[in-house]
Amino acid sequence: MFVDLATIRIQAGNGGNGAVSFHREKYVAAGGPDGGDGGRGGNIVFQADPHLSTLLDFRYKRRFIAQNGENGKSGRCTGKSAPDLVIRVPMGTLIKEANSGRILADISSPEPVVVARGGKGGWGNCHFATATRQIPRFAKAGMEGEAFEITLELKLLADVGLAGFPNVGKSTLISVVSQAKPKIANYHFTTLTPVLGMVKIAEGKSFVMADIPGLIEGASEGVGLGHAFLRHVERCRLIVHVVDVSGSEGRDPVEDFETINRELRNFNEELASRPQIVAANKCDLASAQQLDAFRAYIQGKGLPFYPISAATRQGVDALIGAIAAMLDQLPPIRQYEPDPIPQPKLPEGKREFTVRKEDGVYVVEADWLMSAFGMVDMEDDESLRYFQRVLIQTGIIEELERMGIQEGDTVSILNFEFDYVK
Ligand code: GDP
Ligand code: MG
Repeated sequence: MFVDLATIRIQAGNGGNGAVSFHREKYVAAGGPDGGDGGRGGNIVFQADPHLSTLLDFRYKRRFIAQNGENGKSGRCTGKSAPDLVIRVPMGTLIKEANSGRILADISSPEPVVVARGGKGGWGNCHFATATRQIPRFAKAGMEGEAFEITLELKLLADVGLAGFPNVGKSTLISVVSQAKPKIANYHFTTLTPVLGMVKIAEGKSFVMADIPGLIEGASEGVGLGHAFLRHVERCRLIVHVVDVSGSEGRDPVEDFETINRELRNFNEELASRPQIVAANKCDLASAQQLDAFRAYIQGKGLPFYPISAATRQGVDALIGAIAAMLDQLPPIRQYEPDPIPQPKLPEGKREFTVRKEDGVYVVEADWLMSAFGMVDMEDDESLRYFQRVLIQTGIIEELERMGIQEGDTVSILNFEFDYVK
């Protein structure tokens, strides 16, 4: 079964907790703190697997959980970081956050991509000794790993997409120009899954053609089968619009042509403006008048027109030559950029918090801190500036100064400790 849409839940691993421990040696009364840091939680990573062609596996397995980092240990031993959980998907899988629809990644190259980050390990108590606090009896908990629902959407990677009504000869065409062997039969919707074929033009030169199941009127509204497959045309650089010019099924080629274009437009405005070549198929069955009338109509629209017979291969080489020449002029296959990460919302105005002084360290606590800073990466400049802005806007800095904080004093917030600098 061909499945090109799935919703799953991913959960990166939590960071391990920092350890509280003190150095012990025989006859040494009070050793220093030596609790190590927790290890990092495992990331959730996606990677393309060229052997996969559907998202079927995700019908059966919908939850992916990476391991947590190990807790820190005594003797300043850092806990082991958890391995990444690598999820394999077909080439061309688009990953979106389920709630917002935000694009997180486009898995269309062999590079693995981290989609959910594991939590950092908490610091062990060995970090927390200061001149005034020599026996820190605490350590920090590991951070939670990112967790959310995502949708996987397969959008095939092909240079050329075949579009057209059912039974016009799309599958026949791809089977005579490539090694692809789709089902060919004289009834509608024999092609139930998109098929990719590699078309070799010359030594070392080729392009990928996709046979997309037939579109029918209403496909863009989900009538019939076509709609679900239109997404596979979205990356294509060129659409080859196959029309039965002989009207062998009693339809009119011009009407067919317009109907399909309307469907493309309804699905995605941009698809309608994709470069198009018209292949007038079943020429062997068509009369000279039929062919001329349709040619005049298409050329009147300024589109390239190629009469072919997929069944007898007549005109097929000329069509392939024209496709290759056009592809040379066109930009590469579309890749989707991740949408920008929305900035976390700054807590507005002054907020409730408490500051207490403990062993000379200013400990700031508030329930909203975790949602404001939970994912902030203190090694990143941008995040650090955000962190500082929040401290000022919410009045925390003001309160610290009121309490008499001095340059170089230690402030502890959530998982971080830092020296106060004016
Ligand atoms: P698709 O639904 O567009 O993929 O169409 P198929 O490739 O399955 O073809 C539908 C029917 O049309 C089959 O019976 C084919 O043998 C026939 N057919 C395809 N191309 C031609 C052609 O050029 N001439 C004739 N006479 N029949 C064709
Ligand atoms: Mg077919």
